[in-house]
Amino acid sequence: MADRKNILGVTFDDVTPDEALERVQELIKSRTPGYIVTPNAEFVYTACKDERIRTLLNGAALVVPDGIGVLYASKILGRGLRGRVPGVELGERLAEVCAQKDYTLYLLGAKPGVAEEAGKRLTLKYPKLRIVGTHDGYFKDDAPVVEELRKASPDVVFVCLGFPRQERFMREHLAQLPPAVMLGLGGSIDVYAGTVKRAPVFWQKLGLEWFYRLCCEPKRIKRMIKLPAFLFTAIGARLRHREDIV
Ligand code: UDP
Repeated sequence: MADRKNILGVTFDDVTPDEALERVQELIKSRTPGYIVTPNAEFVYTACKDERIRTLLNGAALVVPDGIGVLYASKILGRGLRGRVPGVELGERLAEVCAQKDYTLYLLGAKPGVAEEAGKRLTLKYPKLRIVGTHDGYFKDDAPVVEELRKASPDVVFVCLGFPRQERFMREHLAQLPPAVMLGLGGSIDVYAGTVKRAPVFWQKLGLEWFYRLCCEPKRIKRMIKLPAFLFTAIGARLRHREDIV
């Protein structure tokens, strides 16, 4: 964790998508329980103001920058991260690795029926993939879900409950499961199920995936309004020579 880069209090692993996938595989192979987080600007901005959220994010085995806003902030702070590691892509590539190496996968999150559909589509794509369970993300009591996870004993769990619920769930329950690697992947199960489309590659390359999502789901404006405030916070921190915790 020593080589992590501190972006306004959240310490990021400066890894490429290939290196991130490699690190996740090392954890699975060595049966080291751990959770992985994929913060965007909204996560970091919230963490600036809330130490509990910082602890949730910094306690992860791997912290990768999901959003372009985090990359801009890292440049403003003079500690540029090498690039984005979109959680949705990391998850998809990991599903392929699970199929190849016979690691079992559990899908947790999204609206009822969506995780099953995502499971079906992933299995169509990677026929050797073993999905050992799915559960929607709209439960009130964690205990029965944790019990189900314990019984299914997956090697990998995609936890898609939205931020920061998914991070709290992973940190709180990881130790109650047989060794597993949990990844907090936001809306990825919706993408795998086909209920939400990712931005076309052209938009992604321009760094405008967030804008595409905003056009598709205008109610995200409430969340995205934090992006400029986040970048101003980074500029303020740089001017005050306080690149870590503001
Ligand atoms: N979600 C859930 N349980 C909740 C709240 C949200 O399973 O209590 C799901 C929601 O259905 C969606 C995902 O969590 O599939 C969050 O997606 P969002 O687009 O907010 O995440 P992002 O990718 O922006 O981090």
